[in-house]
Amino acid sequence: MPVFDSRSFKDHEQVVFCADKETGLKAIIAVHSTTLGPSGGGIRFWDYAAAHRHVAPGDIAETRGEEDAIYDVLRLSRGMSYKNAMAGLRLGGGKSVIIGNPRELGTPALMEAFGRYIQRLGGSYYAAEDVGTSPTMLASVAKSTSYVSGLDSGEFATGDPSPHTALGVFVSIQAAVKHRLGKTDLAGVHVAVQGVGHVGLYLVGHLIKAGARVTITDIVESNIEAAKALGDVTVVEPAAIHAVDCDVFAPCALGGGLNPKTIPDIKASVIAGAANNQLEHEGVQDEDLRQRGILYAPDYVVNAGGIISVEAEVHREKVSDAEREAKVLRIGDTLATVFAASDKQRRPTGEVANEMAEEIIRKAGEHKNLAAE
Ligand code: NAD
Repeated sequence: MPVFDSRSFKDHEQVVFCADKETGLKAIIAVHSTTLGPSGGGIRFWDYAAAHRHVAPGDIAETRGEEDAIYDVLRLSRGMSYKNAMAGLRLGGGKSVIIGNPRELGTPALMEAFGRYIQRLGGSYYAAEDVGTSPTMLASVAKSTSYVSGLDSGEFATGDPSPHTALGVFVSIQAAVKHRLGKTDLAGVHVAVQGVGHVGLYLVGHLIKAGARVTITDIVESNIEAAKALGDVTVVEPAAIHAVDCDVFAPCALGGGLNPKTIPDIKASVIAGAANNQLEHEGVQDEDLRQRGILYAPDYVVNAGGIISVEAEVHREKVSDAEREAKVLRIGDTLATVFAASDKQRRPTGEVANEMAEEIIRKAGEHKNLAAE
């Protein structure tokens, strides 16, 4: 199973495999970079083998699932380095994945066992919530490690990052609409939101308030009902959302939604959403979108609001809500810079953003080396 040869491995500092027989824990922690500060990134709890079970028997499905988990944690941790760099944070990039179904395996004992592994890294990785983990699960992790952020309680606790992520997505949509459609407000702009979970629901609230026309989908009926309670929304089937005839497509469910099957059907001229890893293959789909005249707002720039909100917690600092909000609002300016560079260089926005992030990290590394001499 390749790690160093994986196509998502790129100069990672440390990759740790964790197993605890008693609780059934199988997890991987990837620290991509600590150049800008301790690496920060969420714990994803996901049954990676599930996608393979219907085509491959037992062991093979599990092995393929593990390969997917390695690919995911390496790619996500690198994405966190880029996200934190572009958001101007004093945080490096890391991520962890726990392999398995969180509903079956996610006991307090397993989360606590995982916390012991995080503790052993001595603060080079700070965990937070991600898909499959909840504030309650994080509280269990925090029993065995102090390197957790996004907690509900405690002196520096910053709580649920989702509203901040949603605000960041909202200002990203504003910036992208301004750049592509020349509109300075969202009144009458039609936005299709894929997934109205923690982030998507707050986003729908902002959009309705701004006078946008909103179409939504979700695979969970109660989430659709919660979005309908916010105001006038149109609901479509999950399989139809990317093809809605709208101005903006906002993927706020899971990654990989921008692929050769979906892209030809997309009618929106802007894509800006919270989901991580929206492009199935970086460098391929972002160029495809550019050539089709669709403005893609790089996902990790758009969804940085959550990590912006927890930065102070990692550094044990107190910041006011206004300071935090100001940092989230700056996401719009960062995107405007990426869009302008992409237009000028005639290169995809994703590639341009990656280069900008790498440059920030490279310069910080040089600075650190000089200071150490
Ligand atoms: P969530 O699990 O609360 O919401 C995701 C929603 O998408 C759920 O309502 C789910 O039912 C729905 N969904 C899943 N598959 C779907 C499909 N095929 N079609 C339509 N709907 C589907 O997660 P979240 O916290 O809202 O995060 C959404 C995305 O944003 C994730 O990719 C996450 O990694 C990313 N993100 C979240 C944050 C945060 O602060 N929560 C920060 C950065 C990035």
